[in-house]
Amino acid sequence: MTATTTAPTELFLAGRWTSGGAGTLETLNPSTGETLAEVASASADDVDTAVLAATAALRGDWSAVPPSQKGHFLAKLADLVERDAELLARLEALEIGVPYGFASALFVPNLIGSLRYYAGWADKVNGELVVNDGYFGTPTHAYTRREPVGVIAAIVPWNAPLMILGWKLAPALATGNTVIVKPAEDASLAILHLGKLIEEAGFPAGTVQILPGAGGVVGEALAVHPGVHKVSFTGSTATGRRILRNSAGNFKRTTLELGGKSPQIVFEDADLDSAVRGAAMGLFSNQGQVCAAGTRVLVHRSIRDAVLDGLKAAAEAQVLGDPFDPAATMGPLVNRAQRDKVLGYVEKGKAEGAQLVTGGAAPDGPGFFVAPAVFAGTNEQTIAREEIFGPVGTVIPFEDEDEAIALANDSEYGLAATVWTKDLRRAHTVSAALQAGAVGVNGWSPLGPQLPWGGVKASGVGRELGYEGILANTETKTVTIVL
Ligand code: NAD
Repeated sequence: MTATTTAPTELFLAGRWTSGGAGTLETLNPSTGETLAEVASASADDVDTAVLAATAALRGDWSAVPPSQKGHFLAKLADLVERDAELLARLEALEIGVPYGFASALFVPNLIGSLRYYAGWADKVNGELVVNDGYFGTPTHAYTRREPVGVIAAIVPWNAPLMILGWKLAPALATGNTVIVKPAEDASLAILHLGKLIEEAGFPAGTVQILPGAGGVVGEALAVHPGVHKVSFTGSTATGRRILRNSAGNFKRTTLELGGKSPQIVFEDADLDSAVRGAAMGLFSNQGQVCAAGTRVLVHRSIRDAVLDGLKAAAEAQVLGDPFDPAATMGPLVNRAQRDKVLGYVEKGKAEGAQLVTGGAAPDGPGFFVAPAVFAGTNEQTIAREEIFGPVGTVIPFEDEDEAIALANDSEYGLAATVWTKDLRRAHTVSAALQAGAVGVNGWSPLGPQLPWGGVKASGVGRELGYEGILANTETKTVTIVL
């Protein structure tokens, strides 16, 4: 199967496949540096066309679909994704360099899970009867309705395109919204194939549209557009800030899932083997290009050397290679700029006095590979403060529980945290004290459609998934009938 030739490369606009008003964008294969595809690039005019079509579907064909039928559409789409799971995982491996096995074990099943979970919600989004004091002495009958927010722009990053799009698309559609998808510049192909499946599932034209293109053009136009009611964004903190400002014109709802610098706290009572295994997973999965990457490994001083040795061994056991090589546990970084940025942080770590224990170099040969790096350092060094988005971790010692919590919270970010301990009291009290949107105890970054996801501080605003995903995609209307 040649995945490249089967993926569409045009915009999915108003129910049709068309060329883009801004020419094309080159997608590279990060394993080789060679061109993979030329993908149509949307213009601001294309965004206007998409908003018109999304508005028409919102008021017309999609709103006319009964709630249970909306669920059937989502379930049908889930079945089609399952049918094409291998191709979708291949496209992700090709365009972002993630090992094929990882994409097929996590990214695609996670998308299917989100679609099925919210398919079940579609006819269960009730309002409530509101008991109240009446109206100037006259009794009333009051109730709430949960209504769609409207036209939603889903702006997606390149690190896990299908999975993250599923978090946005599934709850938005289940609650009656229409969605304009803006994939990342480096990763449109898998999402465009999903567009083919959306078409095959028979969603009314304009319900879902896909506009690849430049963030500064398509993303910008969506964020300022008066016809867009919400931006659901996952990406960098800097872009999130810009979107929030751009959304102010018509007071758009925003869900912003941004960067992280997540701690993994290893207490002295932890099961050391599983903590090291899990911490390594939190550092090196998807080449460290994970928002929840556990890049600050905070370790009790008594076990610091053992954890450092364990992570060094885990890093050195990683096999860098082609994403389709079953022996490869890590692929390349997504592009040259990302690789150079990561290498720059390694140099900065060394220059600021952190001890590089292993890795951190780019091997000879084509592709944007970086050998996973482990530092022994402090929480003040730049490598422990800024999001690197690559396979670079810093092991930082602490003396006691209070210091562990203080170090964990001493960060601009607050996305996720992991606690490794066998002590039940500690598991709960430390989890409560951490400034993070999600805490995993004895497992790095548990994810699932039922589990709300999102951050605090510079890691973002709002939550996706679970019932929070329903709330985030609906407005409450109160109806009061004076009796
Ligand atoms: P990015 O912010 O550069 O781009 C994300 C998306 O925004 C892309 O589609 C891009 O084209 C678009 N964009 C760029 N400029 C824009 C603008 N002015 N207006 C609107 N849209 C614009 O981020 P990235 O490099 O693609 O992704 C990596 C970042 O994503 C990391 O910081 C990572 O932590 C974050 N991330 C967060 C989560 C989470 O759940 N919190 C998950 C995955 C990734």
